[in-house]
Order: sequence, then structure tokens, then C-alpha cells
Amino acid sequence: MNWLSSLFSALVQFFAGWAQSTTPGLTPPTFPTTDTRSLWDGVQDAVIPPMSGGIIDESGGFGQGNSLLEAGGGDSAANYKPWYLRDALIRLLRGKNDCSDWFNHGTGSAADLISHVPIVLGNPNPGPLPGADADTEPNPNAPITVYPDGRFYPNSDNQLPIGDFKPGSHAARMIIMLHELAHKVSPPGFTDDAFSTSDSEKNTKKVMEHCAAAVGR
Ligand SMILES: [Zn+2]
Repeated sequence: MNWLSSLFSALVQFFAGWAQSTTPGLTPPTFPTTDTRSLWDGVQDAVIPPMSGGIIDESGGFGQGNSLLEAGGGDSAANYKPWYLRDALIRLLRGKNDCSDWFNHGTGSAADLISHVPIVLGNPNPGPLPGADADTEPNPNAPITVYPDGRFYPNSDNQLPIGDFKPGSHAARMIIMLHELAHKVSPPGFTDDAFSTSDSEKNTKKVMEHCAAAVGR
């Protein structure tokens, strides 16, 4: 028992005594001390702030091993927004690794760009065929749009892995975002793929080559 729960049970006893002395005939409720401990734990849980991008990133992302969120399918587009990754992307691109080195050979600062570019959640791709995971334009200020039925999410239409990363995993999400960012920065070997799925896959391969190790799992 720590000092806080000691204090808490002391207070409980004080008020129980007070209730007894001021209202004769009324039986005060009993508070078993084992319960005050779990009560205090409950209070602590309640004051933990809601998750933000930073907290998610520090825990290594939602994709794998987060039983709390996976349990209820909470990893869907309704709960996990693509802009939650912004901090993790800035950190990666400001860090010293193969991925940031590759981006630094492009035009402009990828880290500066991702820190202010709009990141939005689009509408599901129309039609029965699986559509793009995300898209953007070369213009550095054009938003990056992530699609809720793409591989940014675990319930993607096409269940294909990205490299060996599962759809909806933290690593897959990072690769998707880096691919879009590469359209704005043009690191060496990255090409326009607007009209070809196979060109897009080649580009993703390039991103994997340089960034798979840096994105973590
Ligand atoms: Zn592309």
C-alpha cells in the first residue's frame, strides 16, 4: 500500500466515523481496504489523457500487438487517423538513417514538408476493385489523402502485404506515407506513377529498400 492509498483509507475512516457520530442509528457503509486500492487505480486510469499522435508513436504504433485496440477492431478508419503518424514521420526524417539520407537527396526538406502538409482521410474508393492506398500531387502543399479501404487499414480491400508488412501495421502505414511524401520530394529513383499500378509498386519497392529498416514494426 502506498502513501496515497493509506491517505485515502484514512479519509474513508474519518468520514465513516463522522457519519456515525452525526447521524446516530445510521450504519456507515464499509470500505474494505483492498477495494480502496483498486478504486485508486481506477481514478488513475481515468485521468490518463486521451491518446494523441505522440503517445501512439512512442508505443510503436497500433498495427501489431496493441491488444486494447485490436480487441474491438478499434484500429479502423473511425479510430485511427492518418495524421496521427505525422510526429513519427518527422522524427524518422530528422533522424540519421538510410531513409532520411535517401530523402535528403531529393528536393527540399522532407521533414519540413511533412510537418505542415495537410493529411486527410478520403472517401472509400468507388467500385468493386481495390483502389489506391493513398495519393497526392507533386505540389508540396497539396494534401496527402489516405483511403479508408486501402492498406493503411487492417481491413483493406486488397489484403496484400506491403513488402512483408501486414496491411494496417505501423510499418505498412509509414511506408504508405513515405511513398506519398516521395512524390513531393523526388528522391533518387522515385518516379511519377499516376497512371500505372505497376509503376506505383516499383516506387513502393524503392521506398522499402531505403526505409523498411527505419520504420520499425
Ligand atoms: Zn505513387
